[in-house]
Amino acid sequence: FLGHIDVVPTPDSGDWKYKPFKGTIAKDTLWGRGALDDKNAIVALLEAAEYRLSLGLPNKRTLIFAFGHDEETGGKNGAAAIAKHLIANKIPVAFIADEGFGVMKGIVPGLKNNCAIIGLSEKGNVSIKLSVNELGGHSAWPNPENATSILSRGLSKLENYQFPAHLDGPVRGLFTEAAPYMDLGYRALFSNLWITAPIVKTVLIGGEKTAATVRTTHVTTIIKSGTKENVVPPLAEAIVNLRLFPGDLISYVQAEIIRVIDDPRIKTSIYLEGQEATPISPDQGDGYDQIKDCIHAQFPETIVVPGLVITGTDCKNYTAVTNRMYRFVPFEFSNSNLSGIHGKNEYITRTQFNKAVLFYIDLFQRL
Ligand SMILES: [Zn+2]
Repeated sequence: FLGHIDVVPTPDSGDWKYKPFKGTIAKDTLWGRGALDDKNAIVALLEAAEYRLSLGLPNKRTLIFAFGHDEETGGKNGAAAIAKHLIANKIPVAFIADEGFGVMKGIVPGLKNNCAIIGLSEKGNVSIKLSVNELGGHSAWPNPENATSILSRGLSKLENYQFPAHLDGPVRGLFTEAAPYMDLGYRALFSNLWITAPIVKTVLIGGEKTAATVRTTHVTTIIKSGTKENVVPPLAEAIVNLRLFPGDLISYVQAEIIRVIDDPRIKTSIYLEGQEATPISPDQGDGYDQIKDCIHAQFPETIVVPGLVITGTDCKNYTAVTNRMYRFVPFEFSNSNLSGIHGKNEYITRTQFNKAVLFYIDLFQRL
């Protein structure tokens, strides 16, 4: 069972309802950074384990808790070190459960029920640096083309391009499993993917959040050039961040960017270190089945479906440990909850927390 004790910073601390690092409990709600990402999961796991120990309840299998301290910055010193330890000591792992989606409403188009998505894979992450080196000079007699104009034209071509959408892997599983519970119109669409795939892709691409679940996304995050207002800069650089759909390899997206920009004066290189999307875990068998059964028992009326996690988790550091990694946390999230994750006013209610503890007590007993 993975979790991470580190949190993201709070540059907007002054705007919080309660101080982000005070842990204020007001009525039935705990406010603070990490209340939902991811201290909630860690404390709930430990509460459940202590409860079972206090009753002397035996586990059939050994439970391993692996809590990292640097998940938000890649997990290289936490999760990756723990994974190395497991491999070096030949400690077998049946499956991994980590943070991911919770129980949510309105997350799948056309589905009214609460939905629990078990993440089978997570997107990769790579940044590509574009750089142009040209002659600079005096801004009073500029060349018709210079580093900034060449780079801007390349970026503008990229803006107008989208990577192809996919309806395979965990995304297909999500819609085929959820289809029977959808509104009639959506049900017809999603139950007949063999023929409706092009329309479904258009529907999904239309939604800001759903678009990211069906394709590799790209966005320019840094642009740098020039230091003086009357000097034409000889160098212009931009960083484009991409989140990779499983199967879209780093080598492919880099080649695709070069093809779309179509200008040899713009050089591309991988910025820092890229991370491929993780392999897709099976949507049945050890781990998946017990988590699914436990969701049904603890969150009645909830539809359980497989899915793709579009942000990163510590799981990416465990790909050599097991091919069964399931990203799900037993918390019922509301929309106002979600805006607190990496945002301001992060909070969790007593009811949300208690349900998670009960979930883990039940899950441990099933293992
Ligand atoms: Zn997290």
